Amino acid sequence: VIAGGGVAGLVAALALRPSGHRVTVLDREPGPVPASVPEANSGWIRPSVPQALHSHAFTGLGTGLLREHVPELYEALVDAAAREIDLRDSAPVPVPLEDADELRVLACRRRTFDAVLAATARRLGVTVQADSRVAGLEISGGERPRVTGVRLADGGVLEADLVLDATGQRCESRKWLAVAGIATAPDESTSGEFSCYSRFFRSTRDELPGVLNRGNAGGGIFGHYMAFVHPGDNGTFSIGIGVLPDDPEMKALRDEETFTAVLRATPLLAPWVAADASEAISPVYAINTPDNLVRGVATTRQRAVPGLLQLGDAAAVSNPLYGRGVSLAIAHAFRLAELLAELPEAGETQSARAAELVETLLVPWVHRAVADDRARIALWRAAVHGERPAPLPAGLDLGTATRASFFDAVVWRRLAAVQMSVGRPEQFYDDPEIRSRVATALDGRELPAPPAPSREELLRVVHGAGR
Ligand SMILES: Cc1cc2nc3c(=O)[nH]c(=O)nc-3n(C[C@H](O)[C@H](O)[C@H](O)COP(=O)(O)OP(=O)(O)OC[C@H]3O[C@@H](n4cnc5c(N)ncnc54)[C@H](O)[C@@H]3O)c2cc1C
Repeated sequence: VIAGGGVAGLVAALALRPSGHRVTVLDREPGPVPASVPEANSGWIRPSVPQALHSHAFTGLGTGLLREHVPELYEALVDAAAREIDLRDSAPVPVPLEDADELRVLACRRRTFDAVLAATARRLGVTVQADSRVAGLEISGGERPRVTGVRLADGGVLEADLVLDATGQRCESRKWLAVAGIATAPDESTSGEFSCYSRFFRSTRDELPGVLNRGNAGGGIFGHYMAFVHPGDNGTFSIGIGVLPDDPEMKALRDEETFTAVLRATPLLAPWVAADASEAISPVYAINTPDNLVRGVATTRQRAVPGLLQLGDAAAVSNPLYGRGVSLAIAHAFRLAELLAELPEAGETQSARAAELVETLLVPWVHRAVADDRARIALWRAAVHGERPAPLPAGLDLGTATRASFFDAVVWRRLAAVQMSVGRPEQFYDDPEIRSRVATALDGRELPAPPAPSREELLRVVHGAGR
C-alpha cells in the first residue's frame, strides 16, 4: 500500500511494476483526475497539495529518469505541450557537446504535470483509490512491532506486506506511529525563511516574451528578494517572487497590481509582463514554504519498524527555492523500487537499507539548501531589517560558483549538474579542482550584480501601486 498519490507515490507505483508487486495507491483527495490540461489548471484544487498552485521548475534528474524508465509518461507530457529545454543552448561559455542527458529538461505547470502523471499511471495499470485518507497503521508484534496494513478514515482496513508513506511534507506516519505508542526519532529542521507569491501568465506572442538567463528560468536572487520566471506548457509561464516571511511591507504582493509593479521594476522580469507581451491567467497565490526537513523516522536514527518506509517529501524536504523536490521524489521512488526488488521481505535489513538511501540520496540536498539559505537569509535580513550579517562559514557558496560559471566551462558544466540535482552536492562544492578553477576564474574580474531595485526603490514601487 502506498499512502499518498502525489509525485512520489505514483512514480513509486510505476517503478514497482517490473518486480511484480501488487500495489494500491490511496489518496485523500477526491477523484476523478481532470480530463484535460485546461481543466487541470482551472478547477483542480487539492488542499493537501497547496504547492501545486505555485510556480515550478523540473530539474534534469527527474526528467531524465522519466524519459528513461517511463517513456509513455515523458511522451504524454510532451503531447500535453510541455516545453523541452536544453540548458546548453544558454551556456554563457562554449560547453563541449558531450552526452549530458541531465541538461535536457521539461517545463510545464505543476498541475499539468500532476494530471498527466495521474492519468498515465492509471492507463499503465496502477490502482489508485481516491477519497481514501489513511488515518493510522495496523501493527502486530508487541515488543517488536511490525506494520501489517493501514486503517482508513472511514474505518476500513487494508492489509499490506509493506506500507510506503508518500503523504508529502506533513509525513503523516510520524503521527500514526505516535498514536500506536511507538517512539519516533526527532526531526532535523531549519527554516528557509522564504515566502513565495506566484502568478501564471500566457504569452500573447508566438515566442516567449523574455530571456531565460538561467537556462530553464529567467530572473535571479537579488539583495533582498528573488524573482524567477518558469516557462510552462501551452505558451504559459509562471512567475514566483520570494521574500522573507517577516517582511510585512511585502505582504502587499498578494495584490495583483503590486505583484505586476514589482516585476516591471525588476529589469530581468519586466519584458515578461509588458502590456503587449502576456496576459495574466490566474490570481496571485501566496504560501509560506516548509522548513528544510529531515524526518527522523526516515533515517537510521529511528528504531526500525519493519513494514513501513517513507518516500519523497515524507522523508526529507529541501527549500523549494532550489526546485529539487519533484526530481528527488522521482529519484527516491526509482532507487527504493530497486532496493525492494533486491530485498522484498519487510524486516530490519530492509528498513536499515531504506534509511541509508534517504541519508545518501536526499539528506545532502537538504544540507546544501541550508547552506545556500544561510548566505541568502543573512543578505536579506541585513537589507530588510538592518541586521548585521552573521559571519558565514568558509567555503564555496552558490553565488560565487554562479559568478565563476560565466567564465569557466568546467565550472559551468559541473554547477549545471548540481542545479539539475545530479550527483551529490559536496562532490562539487568540496572538490579542490572546482575551488581552484573558481578562484582563477574570478581573479581580478568584476561581474556586476544582476540589475534590481534597491530596497528603498522597491518599497516606493510597492507603496505607489497600492495607492
Ligand atoms: C511553494 C512550493 C514550490 C515548489 N516548487 C518546486 C519546484 O519548482 N520544483 C520542484 O521540483 N519542487 C518544488 N517544490 C517541492 C515539490 O512540490 C515537492 O517536493 C513534491 O510535491 C513532493 O512530492 P510528494 O509526492 O512527496 O508529495 P506531494 O506532491 O505533496 O503529494 C502528497 C500526496 O499525499 C496525499 N496525502 C496526504 N495525506 C494523506 C493521507 N493521510 N492519506 C492519503 N493520502 C494522503 C496528498 O493528497 C498528495 O496527493 C515546491 C514546493 C513548494 C511548497
